[in-house]
Amino acid sequence: MGTIQTIKGTKDILPQQITYWQYLEKTASEILSKACYQEIRTPIFEQTPLFERGIGEATDVVGKEMYSFVDQGEHSLTLRPEGTAGVVRAYIQNKLFALGGIQRLWYSGAMFRYERPQAGRQRQFHQIGLELLGSDSVRADVEVIAVATDILTTLGLKNLSLQLNSVGDQNDRETYRQALIDYLTPYKDDLDADSVDRLSRNPLRILDSKNPKTQEITVNAPSILDYLSNSSRQHFEGVCGLLTDLGIGYQLNPRLVRGLDYYTHTAFEIISSDLGAQATVCGGGRYDGLVSQLGGEKTSAIGWAMGMERLILLLEKLQALDDNSPDIYFVSRGEKAENQALIIAQKLRQNDWKVELDLSGSNFKKQFKRSDRSGAKMCLILGDSEVETNTIQLKDLITGEQQTLNQEKLVESLPSKK
Ligand code: ATP
Ligand code: MG
Repeated sequence: MGTIQTIKGTKDILPQQITYWQYLEKTASEILSKACYQEIRTPIFEQTPLFERGIGEATDVVGKEMYSFVDQGEHSLTLRPEGTAGVVRAYIQNKLFALGGIQRLWYSGAMFRYERPQAGRQRQFHQIGLELLGSDSVRADVEVIAVATDILTTLGLKNLSLQLNSVGDQNDRETYRQALIDYLTPYKDDLDADSVDRLSRNPLRILDSKNPKTQEITVNAPSILDYLSNSSRQHFEGVCGLLTDLGIGYQLNPRLVRGLDYYTHTAFEIISSDLGAQATVCGGGRYDGLVSQLGGEKTSAIGWAMGMERLILLLEKLQALDDNSPDIYFVSRGEKAENQALIIAQKLRQNDWKVELDLSGSNFKKQFKRSDRSGAKMCLILGDSEVETNTIQLKDLITGEQQTLNQEKLVESLPSKK
C-alpha cells in the first residue's frame, strides 16, 4: 500500500512558504481596515442553489467546475467556488442591510473549483476579496479599485495593468448579446467547440476564449462600449475620470466580460505580466442585480477577489522574506538543567523573546552546532554547574562573547532587542 497523498489540485502550504502568506494577509487586512472594511467569515459549503442562482447556470463555474455532493440528509451542497454569493447570502440572511447605509466587507479563505491544475490554477485555492454593498456611486467603484491597487503596490508588486470595461445594465447586455450572436453566427464553423456551445448559452464569454482562431474572429466583433445606454456610459466615464484623478492608470478592454453572470456596469481585472498564462491576480466588478436575485431588496454592490496563490508566486520572485530564526537558542544538558531550561524558556517567551529550546538531550557540542545553524543571535547555556550556582551562560553568537548571568535577573540582564 502506498502512502496517502494530497488530492489532485490541492497543495500543502509548508512552513517555508507560510511567511509569504502571513505577509500577504497582514498587508491586505491592514489596508482593508484603513478603508473601514470589516472581515466576514461565511461557511465553506453552502446549498447548491445559492451558486446556481447567484453565479448563473450558464457560467463555467456552475456548468463544470463545482464540487457538489449530496449529504446524508440528501441535501445538495457545494464547496464554495467563490466568495461573493456566500457574503451576499449572509448579508440578506443576517439583515446586514438593516444596519443602514453602506456595508463594507472583506473575506479570505479557500475556494474550490474542478479545473485542470497548472501553475497558478488549483482545485483548492485561496482568495482574498471585498464587497461594498449599498452604493451605486461611481465613487464606490473607484474606491474598491483603489483599495485593490493599494494592496498590490504596498506588497511591492510591479508590472501590473488594470483592465477596465463596462458590461452595461441588463438591457444594454441584451442588445449587445444579440449583436454579438449576429456577428458570430456566420463564423460558427470556425469557432472552437466551447465557443459554439457558448453561442446560445453565454455568447459574451466567447470574447474571453483562449483559442487563437476564435480570438482572430472576435477581433472585429462589435464592442460592448458602443451598446451602452446614456446612463451606463455616464457611469463608466465617471469611473474613468475619477481613476485618472487618483493617478490610477488603466487600459480599456471591451473584451473583458468576466466569467460570472451577475456583473453589471464596471468590470475590471488586474493582470501581471510576470505570471505566464494564469495572469489575472484580481478580478471584480459591479453586481447591482445579485442581491435581489438571491431574494434581498434591490441593492447596488461592487466587489473583487484576488487569487492568493498567484500573488504568492509573484512575492516569491520578488523578495526573500525574513526567516523564522529565533532570538535565542537554548541549550541545556543534565536532567535538572533541562527541566530548569524549559521553565526559563517559558518565562522568556512571556517576556516577548522568541526562544527555541533544544530538546535533543545530546551533548553540548552537538547542541552548539544546531545553535549556530539556527540563525539565532544569542545562545543560552544551562548545565549542572550553572544549576548549582543559580547562574546561566549567555553567548553572543555574532561576537562570540560569553558572560555569566544570574538566573533570577535573566530577563532584566538580556541585551535589548534590535
Ligand atoms: P480565470 O480566468 O483565471 O479562470 P476567473 O475569472 O475564473 O479566472 P474569478 O472567479 O474572477 O476568476 O476569481 C478571481 C481570482 O481568483 C482570479 O483572478 C484568480 O487570480 C483567482 N483564481 C480563480 N480560479 C483559480 C484557481 N482555480 N486557482 C487559483 N486561483 C484562481
Ligand atoms: Mg476560471
